[in-house]
Amino acid sequence: MATCDRCGDPVETKNNAGHYRDKCWPCIEEVADEETSHRETCDGPDCLICSTP
Ligand SMILES: [Zn+2]
Ligand SMILES: [Zn+2]
Repeated sequence: MATCDRCGDPVETKNNAGHYRDKCWPCIEEVADEETSHRETCDGPDCLICSTP
């Protein structure tokens, strides 16, 4: 059993390789939402988040 790095909840979700994910599913979705809204508002040409495909 793993725990989420973000909220400390138990993580039961595994990735395709069979390893536990480092975050629980709600946190994975929240982080994805944050990245999406970041991309919509950020206009930094050298931003690491925005330059990640
Ligand atoms: Zn979490
Ligand atoms: Zn950015």
